[in-house]
Amino acid sequence: MGYSSMSKEALSELLLTLREEYNQYLSLGLSLDMSRGKPNREQLDLTQEMLGVIDTPDDCFTENGIDCRNYGLLDGIPEAKRIFADLLEIPSGNLIVCGNSSLNIMYDMLVRCMLYGSAPDTEPWVKQGTVKFLCPSPGYDRHFGICESLGIEMITVDMTPKGPDMDTVERLVSTDPTIKGIWCVPKYSNPDGITYSDDVVRRFARLKPAAKDFRIFWDDAYIVHDLYPDKKDRLLSLFREMHIAGNPNIAYIFCSTSKISFPGSGVSVVAASDSNIAYTKSIMTVQTIGCDKLNMLRHVRFFRSAEGIKRHMKHHADLIRPKFDVILSIFEKELEPCKIAKWTKPLGGYFISLYVPEGCAKRVYGLMADAGVKMTNAGATYPYGIDPHDSNLRIAPTFPPLSEVETAAKVLACCVKIAAAEKLIAEAE
Ligand code: PLP
Repeated sequence: MGYSSMSKEALSELLLTLREEYNQYLSLGLSLDMSRGKPNREQLDLTQEMLGVIDTPDDCFTENGIDCRNYGLLDGIPEAKRIFADLLEIPSGNLIVCGNSSLNIMYDMLVRCMLYGSAPDTEPWVKQGTVKFLCPSPGYDRHFGICESLGIEMITVDMTPKGPDMDTVERLVSTDPTIKGIWCVPKYSNPDGITYSDDVVRRFARLKPAAKDFRIFWDDAYIVHDLYPDKKDRLLSLFREMHIAGNPNIAYIFCSTSKISFPGSGVSVVAASDSNIAYTKSIMTVQTIGCDKLNMLRHVRFFRSAEGIKRHMKHHADLIRPKFDVILSIFEKELEPCKIAKWTKPLGGYFISLYVPEGCAKRVYGLMADAGVKMTNAGATYPYGIDPHDSNLRIAPTFPPLSEVETAAKVLACCVKIAAAEKLIAEAE
């Protein structure tokens, strides 16, 4: 029965039973971690062979004869650029293949905009006074962390099932010249698993910002991270659309192999218009002579092509799909009849997003922590760590083994029920 149609007495009785169940979980002395979107050991093992693909000195040369053990090639080795060009459907001349992490290059890009400006003929953002960013939320906590650390004011924009609320984005961007950028995770978004619709992508490509130096930070982190072989989201190419729209400089596009090969030891990429790439390189060249070409080469030799990456990702999906499925089936069984929560059923990415009754997310988080299950902090998916509804919880199922995911989902369902019942009882008093 839905909790909202239960009497206070019935809810109080139910709460006693739920607390008994919860106490049993407490007695298990659990120590589980569902807090970060990390691949688990089996996923990492899939790429183990990559570490051995460069064996002899002769293996260290690119197709155009560059020795990867030595300095050079600021924008990456040609064969790595070609693979990412195919994957992103962007010409290789519009890419820079970088180092081990996309978060790092997003941070660098933002700092460049702050210190040098986003184009040669513009003022550095720091010299222009207040700098604001739009933050579709819930979103990726580390994007928000960059803004917070650099003193960039964050404005929350609601997510819809088709992407950010574009009416709000267009209104704010076209009227406020202090808004310099927006964070986007356009495919299998973190944490909602939403893929932006064609209309949303086209509207992004056609933004008319009041700030001429405005940039979209398009973080395509989950570009090939489908969970199901026959149900996949498709993302329209922003790169193509922004060129068609005559707005080629509006966005920087990022991705990495963190959840394809090894997080923290992968390869990352930034893509942008001709002039944005030339400008970025002109500043990057002061910072570095080039990124880790040997790692690029290892990735090329192991994956061989964009198709090779897509094939590899099917093995990842086979390993993590059961974890998503078990959580969804426990939620369906335990939470659906109570009518107290809703959750996403993503076709890809790394997260399930759970919405508990308003005002209950922190309580659920606390109950989970006490029971030994670590979740991403309640509120972390919003700017400044403050969820205005205290409702969203991000579930990251990939890291623990399947049996632990199953236990954690059962504990979570129990904690959600306790928090919801407590809330309804308090409201009835
Ligand atoms: N972008 C998003 C949306 C993510 O969810 C993550 C990791 O969780 C990253 C970027 C981090 O990527 P990288 O390891 O390449 O820095």
